[in-house]
Amino acid sequence: DAPAEKYEYQAEVSRLMDLIVNSLYSNKEVFLRELISNASDALDKLRFLSVTDSGLLKDAVDLDIRIHTDKDDGIITIIDTGIGMTRQELIDCLGTIAQSGTAKFLKALKDSKEAGADNNLIGQFGVGFYSAFLVSDKVAVATKSPKSDKQYVWEGEANASTYTVREETDPEKLLPRGTRITLYLKRDDKGFAHPEKIQKLVKNYSQFVSFPIYTWQEKAFTKEVEVDEDPTEAKKDGEDDKPQKKTKKVVERYWDWELTNETQPLWLRNPKEVNTDEYNEFYKKTFNEYLEPLASSHFTTEGEVEFRSVLYVPSIAPQGRDDIINFKTKNIRLYVKRVFISDDFDGELFPRYLSFIKGVVDSNDLPLNVSREILQESRIVRIMRKRLVRKAFDMILGISMSENREDYERFWENFGKHLKLGCIEDRENHKRIAPLLRFFSSQSEEEMISLDEYVENMKPDQKDIYYIAADSVASAKNTPFLERILEKDLEVLFLVDPIDEVAIQNLKSYKDKNFVDISKEDLDLGDKNEEKEKELKQEFGQTCDWIKKHLGDKVASVQISNRVSTSPCVLVSGKFGWSANMERLMKAQHT
Ligand code: ADP
Ligand code: MG
Repeated sequence: DAPAEKYEYQAEVSRLMDLIVNSLYSNKEVFLRELISNASDALDKLRFLSVTDSGLLKDAVDLDIRIHTDKDDGIITIIDTGIGMTRQELIDCLGTIAQSGTAKFLKALKDSKEAGADNNLIGQFGVGFYSAFLVSDKVAVATKSPKSDKQYVWEGEANASTYTVREETDPEKLLPRGTRITLYLKRDDKGFAHPEKIQKLVKNYSQFVSFPIYTWQEKAFTKEVEVDEDPTEAKKDGEDDKPQKKTKKVVERYWDWELTNETQPLWLRNPKEVNTDEYNEFYKKTFNEYLEPLASSHFTTEGEVEFRSVLYVPSIAPQGRDDIINFKTKNIRLYVKRVFISDDFDGELFPRYLSFIKGVVDSNDLPLNVSREILQESRIVRIMRKRLVRKAFDMILGISMSENREDYERFWENFGKHLKLGCIEDRENHKRIAPLLRFFSSQSEEEMISLDEYVENMKPDQKDIYYIAADSVASAKNTPFLERILEKDLEVLFLVDPIDEVAIQNLKSYKDKNFVDISKEDLDLGDKNEEKEKELKQEFGQTCDWIKKHLGDKVASVQISNRVSTSPCVLVSGKFGWSANMERLMKAQHT
């Protein structure tokens, strides 16, 4: 053998390995899910590259995963014909942490500790390659990348801070391409090397892997063999003298690869035959999520453009991502004819305000070597985008109509901001967005209401929808603008989220009723009394002039008004000016 070089793990890796082993001890079997998912990723990558470079497939055409078990020695071997790794990739991928799944795991671990959740939750996470050490004393990764003509072997042991990498020189052990991971099981975990056990785990964990997974299984078949009849029994009662031929059943045993998973991708199945659990499982596996989605939608469109899709509304927004506008997600996985193309194109398939929607989209009409440029110019994509957006809204509407009001409250809490952004960015879909909006109001300070609820509650002669923007329900409630409106028992929406006001201004109206800011001058409550106003103006005209003189440029004008009933005066914004709330926002932006 070529000499093995010794390397030290990045410090985080050692810590992570400890964490994994300590928190997943009751959930050891996840190691198989992780290694299969890596094999599947590696096959995806190879299949993708082979679309433009078919030469890549020449060394081994079949894209599959094979799991061999040796129960006597307690060894499991997982072999894939995927993209493999070069020497440098081995060191980068298996000696350092750069991976998203791992980061998520660390976060979940922290959250679940804080919430006092059980360890099961963590078991649902993508914890990656190192989970192999949950069950193994030693792990060997032999791998051959098409980029290199050499095969390398990575070897690590449980509880060690170093690993080794060497070149494979034994011709017997060379792979055509891909990766072979050998797990030398711990004494207490050798049970995992039983063929039936592995078969069960594969079925359980890998329903949604779209490559065939074969496991090494003992098979039996019965065959009939001819045997000569026992000569002592042969002659009876003067039967024929000839020895009679008889057949006997013999059971033959042998070992062979057995296909163990179902490879039909979920989205190709008939929606009528897929149940909610299956959709939820698919979601969790595909997006490395541990919470179930709030809603899902599975559909096929035919006609002009043909594609299939499964979409989801997550139940929680990504944490620590306040900047919903500028962050990139990997929420939409695009396939072309079942080949995974990329999860980088969500911006092309969904407007950014709907970027929280997750799902898979599989089209037969796009070229396999599709690029962002192609997507941006494609008429097909424009049609797809329209349909996807419509389906996304249907899904959200479905949540809003659910009997379980909490579901929508949850949605709104997590993604309400996105929809408000939609009011600003997507005029075309105002009709779909507006019914989904929720606000507090003067008559509903605890629970948010919809615009439909507002409209239903309008007075017979009320023409407009009233709102006031403020920084909280408490301050909205105390504004003097409300006095007269409340006297008339009219309802006023409280816009307490900074984005609310801009969103409403973009909508302009709902069901032919204009949104009216009650803090603006000229508020018409339909009860003008011109005579009275004239009288008042005469009586107090000079007072107004006097006040204006003293305030000078600080105000635009001082007027008699019927806006307030108990407060002596109120500061209002000009008809065309910014509202006080906007001014406050602008100020905040400049500091
Ligand atoms: P993740 O799968 O989230 O990236 P893992 O810890 O599971 O994290 O794997 C780390 C990296 O090691 C992978 O991203 C991949 O680059 C590499 N890798 C692991 N297993 C394989 C494999 N069977 N074939 C090719 N590369 C692999
Ligand atoms: Mg992985």
